[in-house]
Amino acid sequence: MERTLILLKPDCVQRRLMGRVLARFEDKGLNIIAMKMMRVTPELAKKHYAEHVKKDWYPALEGFITGGPIVAAVVEGLEAIRVVREMLGATSGLKAASGTVRGDFSSSRQMNLVHGSDGPAAAQREIALYFRDEEICAGEPTIAPWLRAADE
Ligand code: ADP
Ligand code: MG
Repeated sequence: MERTLILLKPDCVQRRLMGRVLARFEDKGLNIIAMKMMRVTPELAKKHYAEHVKKDWYPALEGFITGGPIVAAVVEGLEAIRVVREMLGATSGLKAASGTVRGDFSSSRQMNLVHGSDGPAAAQREIALYFRDEEICAGEPTIAPWLRAADE
């Protein structure tokens, strides 16, 4: 089992797409094991997007991500990091495949609705930025035997 961080970005919250996006992850059989609505501060934005801080478009990204409430969640499942990234689609909504969250709901490079960690190291680092250990509600859901075979 793998854990990944997702953020429903301010555009997702403002456009009332939270429920539809979370439903996709639930429908897939992923477990939401932590979730909170919050504001991203400029300090947190700089930590979260450390790899992009020096880019000329970073100030616009920081303005966007701090511009309204977000929902942070920890999603758990088999190969959850890759599975979530594939469900989100390419960075730009204009390029993302149809059937993905960004491909279906976004026409923007910046306002692409949802963040997903891009690898195991990022997932671990990002989960720790948003959640304390005791905020993570791990535990096998009772539906688990109906989502995959015991030996998968
Ligand atoms: P991803 O979220 O798909 O991993 P990146 O790590 O490349 O994408 O970029 C982080 C976030 O920064 C994107 O999700 C998007 O919101 C924003 N972004 C990416 N490229 C640009 C750009 N050229 N101009 C403005 N915002 C951008
Ligand atoms: Mg990225």
